Amino acid sequence: MSHLESVVQEAYGSHIFNRVLHSTTTFATSTLSAFYFDIIKDTMYCDALESPTRRAIVAVLYHLSWLNPTVKSEMSQIISLRAEVQRLVENARAEKRIKVGNQTEVYLSKILGSENGGTLSALLGVSSVGDLSSADKSAMEWTYESSLEIENETISILLGPATRSQCPRCWLYNAERENSLCSRCEEVINVT
Ligand SMILES: [Zn+2]
Repeated sequence: MSHLESVVQEAYGSHIFNRVLHSTTTFATSTLSAFYFDIIKDTMYCDALESPTRRAIVAVLYHLSWLNPTVKSEMSQIISLRAEVQRLVENARAEKRIKVGNQTEVYLSKILGSENGGTLSALLGVSSVGDLSSADKSAMEWTYESSLEIENETISILLGPATRSQCPRCWLYNAERENSLCSRCEEVINVT
């Protein structure tokens, strides 16, 4: 975001207006719609109106800015991790293990970011995120593995089938039982 701002200001300054148009369009179509809007839509549609996560996203949409260097570096690590996780999801989809990313859960040797697991799973496009040390690989029907170098540290990634049931409200595989709501949706329904 702040990068976009400086590129656009420079382009305006040097009267290169097609660069302004190009940078803004690319930002809106790829960064915003393909990435950010994709990951926030579950929260926007399914969280309670006043949930802190939803309110935080609404605030971000109002003050779109990644000027904060900590947030910026955290987000760029998560973006790299998301790309790798999505590559594994694509493999699983190509081999007909799953239809959508929600049908998977991912285990990491290091949980990235200061956000809770719920937010990280939405960012990565899977139903849940857990610590690799707690993963029981032998109990999983299938797995895809990879690793990623982030700041001189190797992060191991294990993708497996979602173990919980699909929530009929948000469609995430986060419900404890078949045909029951996940705990987030349960809470929302009870409040509203
Ligand atoms: Zn739900």
